[in-house]
Amino acid sequence: MTIKYTVSLHNPHAHTFRVTLEISHPDKEGQIVSLPAWIPGSYMIRDFAKNIITIGASSNNKAIKIEKTDKSTWKIAPTTSKLTLSYDVYAWDLSVRSAHFDMTHAFFNGSSLFLMPHDFESENCYLEIEKPLDPKYADWKVTTSLANEITSSSGFGTYKAENYDDLIDHPVEIGTQSEFEFEVESTTHRMAFTGQCRYDSKRLKSDLTKICQTHCTMFGELPQLEKYIFMTMVTGDGYGGLEHRSSTSLMCSRDDLPLVTEPDEPNEKYRNYLGLCSHEYFHTWNIKRIKPANFMPYDLTKETYTQQLWAFEGITSYYDELALVRSKVISIESYLELLGQTITRVLRGKGRFKQSIAESSFEAWTKFYKQDESAANNIVSYYAKGALLALCLDLTIRKETKNAKSLDDVMRHLWLNYGKREIGLAEGEIERIASEVSGVNLSTFFKKYLYGVEDLPLKSLLSEFGVDFNLRPTISVDDKGGKANKDNPQVTASIGARFAADPVGVKIIQVFNEESAELAGLSAGDTIIAINNLQVNKSNIDKIINSYPANEKLIIHAFRRDELKEFTLLLKPAELTTCYLEINNKIHKDKMKNQKEWLFL
Ligand SMILES: [Zn+2]
Repeated sequence: MTIKYTVSLHNPHAHTFRVTLEISHPDKEGQIVSLPAWIPGSYMIRDFAKNIITIGASSNNKAIKIEKTDKSTWKIAPTTSKLTLSYDVYAWDLSVRSAHFDMTHAFFNGSSLFLMPHDFESENCYLEIEKPLDPKYADWKVTTSLANEITSSSGFGTYKAENYDDLIDHPVEIGTQSEFEFEVESTTHRMAFTGQCRYDSKRLKSDLTKICQTHCTMFGELPQLEKYIFMTMVTGDGYGGLEHRSSTSLMCSRDDLPLVTEPDEPNEKYRNYLGLCSHEYFHTWNIKRIKPANFMPYDLTKETYTQQLWAFEGITSYYDELALVRSKVISIESYLELLGQTITRVLRGKGRFKQSIAESSFEAWTKFYKQDESAANNIVSYYAKGALLALCLDLTIRKETKNAKSLDDVMRHLWLNYGKREIGLAEGEIERIASEVSGVNLSTFFKKYLYGVEDLPLKSLLSEFGVDFNLRPTISVDDKGGKANKDNPQVTASIGARFAADPVGVKIIQVFNEESAELAGLSAGDTIIAINNLQVNKSNIDKIINSYPANEKLIIHAFRRDELKEFTLLLKPAELTTCYLEINNKIHKDKMKNQKEWLFL
């Protein structure tokens, strides 16, 4: 064995793993080791090495010198014998991106725990996970998609990885997680849930089988996998996911999981969870295998730039919801509601006129991943607008080819000719391939909507597929769009800001460019305490504002920091940025056929 890591569950109360790394034949000039600065799939420098608390090196049973040469790198004194490093890692980040350990469970991504020995990146490596000796943890088990070498029935023991890249692409969950399995394309799929939760496993099994199968059918096959694992950490209000080659780490809220009482049509929360699973599973092809050439291999020491994240996150976001309706797990109405919400998210941000989604992809490291209160005004999401671009691309190809071709053909081509053959995609190559596979010249399309900032032709395209595109004003801060305003009074004016509850009033969290609040001088961070001398709070502010017609003047009292200020606000007419889609009942036969081709695989 050349490279071997051993992880011991050292101190759950101090949240520390103890890791030992043995290198049989270290670099004679002095071995260099480093920890990644970021984790693939999450495009932000996180400097995981900050969590290494203590580190020591030894050889021939003697301590040898180890010195830090930059924030993530160490150099060890030369030795010709086996080198052993021992270090403690602090693990108290409850997210899918790093590591978390206490007396309830242990979770880690290899990028947070495993120092990479330079020049050994492509060597096989072994990982031993030690069973904790304390009888309190007697019922703990290991869940991971890493290949077993010699493990006990509870999964403790030795695993083997092809190389360092493989080693860090299989997160590990250790604890009392509940699990069940199902089969897709003759491959075992497992779901594991950590945290206090209740769920109807029969329902999850049935819905997930259909969704996973829909993705496999679209691509033509599942990539060669030993198994696939959905690992979910369940908390009171969690949400998030990170894709890996044979598994995914997810976080969801307790209420997102279905109980036996779940109606046939999933409620909004369960639908979100299904969408999350669907999204990460689609990544098994799109980003884990079909990937930018710039990511082959990943340089985990610094930012790696690409304009293509719209294709990997946007196209994935389009298909994650499309697969829910194609697999008949949700209805067409429910799908159109989701689509209406995505359109609403994009239309509410004027940043879409300042940043293209190609730029948003490239600048992800400093803008999308480091959003502040100005995000809606200054940037666009390559997830949300990327998903709509994928929708428009799909509908354009279908329309131009009379349904002979679609985005499905483009994705299959990318899988067979790039992902499956491990060939990376150069910048701009996906656009060229889309034109080539569909036979439709899409250069103007990409120029306008991917590299330019023009609004997508959603209304006209959706109408060809029998769907009416409607816009209305926003009713409240909780109004996500996707539905008509049937039960609430008509809104005619808007203050042009978003609020959150605050102990003395409402705190402004976003102020939209050129709308009433900004023109009056209000800013994010201000706390509004009164409108026209009446106290406001989160539960009455929408009602108060909506009761005034456009062009009315309001006197607003607000704190900026601890200074009370008075603002005169002229209410502008409400902008129509909330979208809802409806099936056109007087649909023409051809459009009905288009819709069926689009929504059913
Ligand atoms: Zn994603």
